[in-house]
Amino acid sequence: MTQRIPIVEKILSANDRLAIENRARFDAAGVFTLNVMASPGAGKTSLIEKTVSALKGSLRIGMINGDIATSLDADRAAAAGAAAVQINTGGDCHLDAVMLQAALPQLDLARLDLIIVENVGNLVCPAEFQLGTHKSVLVASIPEGDDKPYKYPGMYRGVDAVVINKIDLLPYVPFRREFFKNGIEVLNPGVTQFELSCRTGEGLPAWLAWLVAQVSSTRQNSVSGHLAS
Ligand code: MG
Ligand code: ZN
Repeated sequence: MTQRIPIVEKILSANDRLAIENRARFDAAGVFTLNVMASPGAGKTSLIEKTVSALKGSLRIGMINGDIATSLDADRAAAAGAAAVQINTGGDCHLDAVMLQAALPQLDLARLDLIIVENVGNLVCPAEFQLGTHKSVLVASIPEGDDKPYKYPGMYRGVDAVVINKIDLLPYVPFRREFFKNGIEVLNPGVTQFELSCRTGEGLPAWLAWLVAQVSSTRQNSVSGHLAS
């Protein structure tokens, strides 16, 4: 009997390969792309609206919205001043690189500085599907409760930033800030965090400054890449 030697190799999934293609297109165009994830109702669309309103004078912004059935959120982003594209996932509870790639022809990448991707509201599987975006952010909110990092560790582990929205509700809702933050720290040590309220505007400037810095560094990398080639 011949011994079989198992060969273990890292095989990229079809989704991961398309994510790499998506990223290459973003890099070639010098556009910074952000994947925004959250549970339903945490305030993704409100944060995007505020962000577009604040930055549309200085940045050219595109928005890709993943929703199970409606275009309400894309409509709000368009009203705020973004070039908005709607992806109806047809019941799927997350976006993937295939859906994102299918939406890209509707945006003129070379004429944009920033693309915000609003993922489907869901705290489980969006983290498992790479889209090819440069960075990802998780929007949490005070009324959801302070136990979310413990219940949905996969979402907190992979993100580049955490936004804690609705801090104006802290006086009214039981929320142990330290417990919440300790949960994040264990899963994602040192991750960038913002505490803000889309309703009052408190804390928004720090978030906007971070985002603008990401856009600038992507554009500079793209420019130096073009000069080098
Ligand atoms: Mg929304
Ligand atoms: Zn899903």
